[in-house]
Amino acid sequence: VNETVQDLQEARRQLPVYMVRNRLLEEIKKNETMILIGETGSGKTTQIPQLIHEQRLEGAGTIAVTQPRRVAAITIAMRVAAEMNTEIGSIVGYSVRFEDVTSPRTKVKYLTDGMLLREAIIDPLLKKYSIIVLDEAHERTVSTDVLFGIVKLAQKDRADKKLNPLKIIIMSATMDVDTFRKYFHNCPVIYLEGRTFPVTIYHSKMKQDDYQYAAVCTIFQLHATTPANHDFLVFLTGQEEIETVMYNIKQIAKEAAGPPIRVCPLYAGLPAAKQLQVWRDPPPGTRKIILATNIAEASVTIPRIKCVIDTGVVKERTWSGGTGAERLAVRAGSQAAGWQRAGRAGRTQPGVAYRLFTADDFRSRPLHQTPEILRCPLASTMLLLIAAGAEPSTFPLIDTPPPDSVKASLTLLKELGAIDNEVNPKLTVLGKKMSTFPIEPKYSKVLLSAPEYNCLDEVLSLIAVLSSENVFHTPMHKREEAIKVKQKFLSPLGDHITLLNVFKAFCKAPLKKQWCKENYLNHKNLTYACEVRQQLLAICHKLNLTVSSCGQAYDQVLKCLLCGLFTNCAWQRGGAGGGGRYVTAAGAAAALHPACALHAARPAPPVLLYTELLATSRTYMLTVSAIQPHWLHQVAPDYARRCRANR
Ligand code: ADP
Ligand code: MG
Repeated sequence: VNETVQDLQEARRQLPVYMVRNRLLEEIKKNETMILIGETGSGKTTQIPQLIHEQRLEGAGTIAVTQPRRVAAITIAMRVAAEMNTEIGSIVGYSVRFEDVTSPRTKVKYLTDGMLLREAIIDPLLKKYSIIVLDEAHERTVSTDVLFGIVKLAQKDRADKKLNPLKIIIMSATMDVDTFRKYFHNCPVIYLEGRTFPVTIYHSKMKQDDYQYAAVCTIFQLHATTPANHDFLVFLTGQEEIETVMYNIKQIAKEAAGPPIRVCPLYAGLPAAKQLQVWRDPPPGTRKIILATNIAEASVTIPRIKCVIDTGVVKERTWSGGTGAERLAVRAGSQAAGWQRAGRAGRTQPGVAYRLFTADDFRSRPLHQTPEILRCPLASTMLLLIAAGAEPSTFPLIDTPPPDSVKASLTLLKELGAIDNEVNPKLTVLGKKMSTFPIEPKYSKVLLSAPEYNCLDEVLSLIAVLSSENVFHTPMHKREEAIKVKQKFLSPLGDHITLLNVFKAFCKAPLKKQWCKENYLNHKNLTYACEVRQQLLAICHKLNLTVSSCGQAYDQVLKCLLCGLFTNCAWQRGGAGGGGRYVTAAGAAAALHPACALHAARPAPPVLLYTELLATSRTYMLTVSAIQPHWLHQVAPDYARRCRANR
């Protein structure tokens, strides 16, 4: 922030990429596709697009650089704008899901892989870009995997049609180069000698049973013995865990020796402004401790990080095509992830990484994580592919997802009315509209059904809340109090209307922060929900949808929800009086999660609509409402018949 232009230029010149720039630019000029492998910190992401632009190699077009995570796209674009001494949003810009900071003058554009994929729907040839850099290719997000195919086809099509050529650069720190090389017609691979500062790695001597506890102990041991300007970066798995550890640190800090502490959380669901606080320097003499999920694992540079504390775990979603249950499991990360995390300590100075697991444990881990496309639901990806004019059965993917999973997603799209058939699918008018929303097809169907039920106002709010993380804040030490306060929002219809009540009350509250505190609600998550609602509303306006309210007629809201979520029904086993045990349409036994509003409802409702199925020791339904048995026949007659036949 306080660095002068000269400082920034001097720092640039020290980077390995800068030192070999001439050779690199020659290769970029010569090849239409190339793979660039360089150690983290060598300057790939910040320098290569700048070097290309300085030589005007992009011609009349723009350089796109994709990032798997929004916080990376934003902070990197800001860094590059500072290095080029220009305003962000002019020559250098960024585009992420809720924010487009670019202008017609933008020549270097950092954007999330998801955003580029959306642009491909409007223009599958991506004509405005002359150079596309797919960065952090090793992360293998679904969007990046699909983009590999999109850019490969666009490059060929543009050549065939004699349009402006497309140059493709794949960049990564570590990756399985052979597979990529084969996929991109044996293109050249360029290796950059890296310059990261050395990072000393320590492993635990013994296995740790409780990694949260081990993390807190390590933080305070280091805190007592290291200078205040050494900041810490601690890897944890999710928001709730981060909040618990944050609370514990603040409690212990009151009594601990050492300098004052500033704790900053960093996770995907945090509003962007809050995420960026991680990049602000604390007051002099204060230590910053960042508690992050794996969004801080790759791409980003957070200055002053001297110590990384790696719990060695990640939260990973996997999905069972059969039962439709998602499994959100905390599991051991890959070796590649371990190196990336440690590398965060050596970006601007030499550093230290403490792994809270043994060296033997590390060596036993898989080298890379399973690509996301092999373990997640594919309905939204398939919809995007079809919208971009691709044929799902012949589209070139590096790793082919399981056929069952593809088939299940096409069946769902057909039942939602988004495609006309499953064999050679074409988008319907409805499907075309659905593809313009950056949310799961089930939910875009709900939004598009809302005008018919007069409840778009309510449904927008509801989906916005469902898109953010938990809005209830239940601190462990005030559990009972929090549950008591929650009662005033409870609806006898279930969780959806309860959430709607919370959101409406939040919007009306004049002093939101204070109000959230009194009501045990999460202010950050509700603020995020407001942002999402704005974004969705803007798309509804573009589609000329009428935003009206059903008032208190909440049945309308639930029926409308069922229009998209009809595959998420569960019936009481053995009919009413079956004791609250349920079975889903796929035949899986499922129970109401104890946090559900209907958990204690007696008699237990005969039919439920759930938002998510989560498999832990048993399969739980999350965010659930009671519905009338005949509604399913009204909103999705074909599906209802098929269900009845199966049951
Ligand atoms: P790579 O993509 O090869 O991992 P980057 O281009 O992201 O490397 O960053 C190269 C180096 O530039 C970093 O190691 C760091 O020294 C410096 N740098 C990048 N971004 C920032 C930033 N926001 N603040 C301070 N230094 C930065
Ligand atoms: Mg990078």
